[in-house]
Parts: sequence; C-alpha cells; structure tokens
Amino acid sequence: MLFDAHTHLNEERYTEEERAELASEIAASPVDFIMDAGSCFSDTEQAVRDAETYPWCYASAGIHPEEVGDLTEADMERLKKLAVRDKVRAIGEIGLDYYYDDGVPREVQRMWFRRQIQLANELKMPIMIHSRDADLDTLTILKEEGAFSDERRSWFPKRPGPLKEDGTRDMLPDARVLMHCFSYSAETAAEYVKLGATISICGPVTFKSNKKTRRVVESVPIEFLTVETDAPYLAPEPMRGRPNKSVYVEYTCRKVAEIKGISYEEAAEITKRNAMRFYDVKEDGPF
Ligand SMILES: [Zn+2]
Repeated sequence: MLFDAHTHLNEERYTEEERAELASEIAASPVDFIMDAGSCFSDTEQAVRDAETYPWCYASAGIHPEEVGDLTEADMERLKKLAVRDKVRAIGEIGLDYYYDDGVPREVQRMWFRRQIQLANELKMPIMIHSRDADLDTLTILKEEGAFSDERRSWFPKRPGPLKEDGTRDMLPDARVLMHCFSYSAETAAEYVKLGATISICGPVTFKSNKKTRRVVESVPIEFLTVETDAPYLAPEPMRGRPNKSVYVEYTCRKVAEIKGISYEEAAEITKRNAMRFYDVKEDGPF
C-alpha cells in the first residue's frame, strides 16, 4: 500500500545482518516497494545487489553532489554500466548541495550534475534530484540540459492531472524528474510541476516548525506527489531523532493525508501509483 520513493537500504553503515533485518521488516510491512537510491559507486553497487535480492526493491544509479569531487570521465562509463541493469530505474541522486561552505566546489558540482543529466537523457531514464540551498542553479541547469524539453517529455507516457469538476482528467506531459526531499517553497514546487516534475515529500513535513513544506503539500495536486523516507536520515515525527527506516514512510504519508483532507489509505494508494509510474514498476509480484 506504500512506496518509499527514496531510501538507502544500501547504506554502508549497515552490517549484512542489519540490512537483512531491515529487509524482512519491509517485506512484512505495508510498504510494497522501495527505491534504493545510489549516491556513490559503492552505494549504487549495493543498491543493485539489494534490487536483485528483493523483488520489492528497485535501485537508482548516481553520484551525489557531495561525492563528485574525484570523478573522471571514465566514471561515467562505469555509471552507465550500472544504470542499464534491469532493476535500475533512475539516474540519481544527482544535483547540487550548497549547504556546506567547505564542500565540493560549486563549479565541480555543476559540471557533474550536467554530465549525469546528459547520461540520463542518453539512456532515456528518469532523473532523481538532490537539491539543497541551490534552487536557482538546479532549475537553470535542468532546463539548459533539456530535462524538461519537449523531446525528453515525448519519451514517457503522459500522466493524469488532477480530477476536474466534470469528472475528467487532462493527460499532461511527464518529464520524469523527481525532486527528492523537496525543501523549497510552494511557488518553486508549482514551477517544477508545470514543467513536468514530481515532488517527493520526506519526513521533515511532520516537523512542527515546517510550515513551508506543509504549504507545498497543500498546493501541489496529489497526482504529482510521492512520499519517501531518505532513511537512515530525517526520521519523521514521532520517530524523530532515531535512525530512520523505510517502514516509517507511513508517518509521512499520514501527514500528507491529513494536509490533503483525505484518508491515509487513499494517500498511500495514490502516492504509490505515482511512484510506480515514475519508476516504471509493475505490480506483478506476490505483494
Ligand atoms: Zn538520499
């Protein structure tokens, strides 16, 4: 009934036993699918192993902006080999992170962000974005690299828009760009949605002080939202402060349902369908 649209079962801090324990917890929970997001080569390789081990697990291949400092062009070939594996369904998490002053230089981040969008376009794959304190540059680069171009949007089936008063829905272009752990304003979210992006809501929406993300959930039609944990980081209330895990995606989904004024079951089902469409996941297993 739930799809954790961005998590890190691949996290290197887990022992094999811990990973297996988390996996059996997910298998026994209402979480039907997870997207195990890559953020460096070793994490991506582990995510691919996870996806090949567990039927409900899918993987993404990408180098996080804080990990791009030592990349070379040869690494793009290595990434491509991982990206074409069967259960790898997106290039990500890629993007920009300007939070740390002493982090990877911004021009280096921008270069590898562009290069990985180009790879996603070459492979006609969905893109999963990590963007923190870099809203303007992220949008500019995505546009310049054709992430929202008509050509790219023509590669993917259109997606259903919100229900209209006459009971019908418009079918709208889908650029298959997911803004993971969206932390910007409702106005920025509206701009992304208009371009064909999907907005992914993470645990901080449950934090009392976070009016900004609640406004995003209020204003973006649920047809364009997914829910995620980003585990082991950012545990939602009432688990805040503990190591996060995929099964806690329920709390984030409950908050989205509350803000939208719909039932938890409905919010879970719609956000799951949205993530399945985004990652091209079919419900053909014993889930
Ligand atoms: Zn992440």
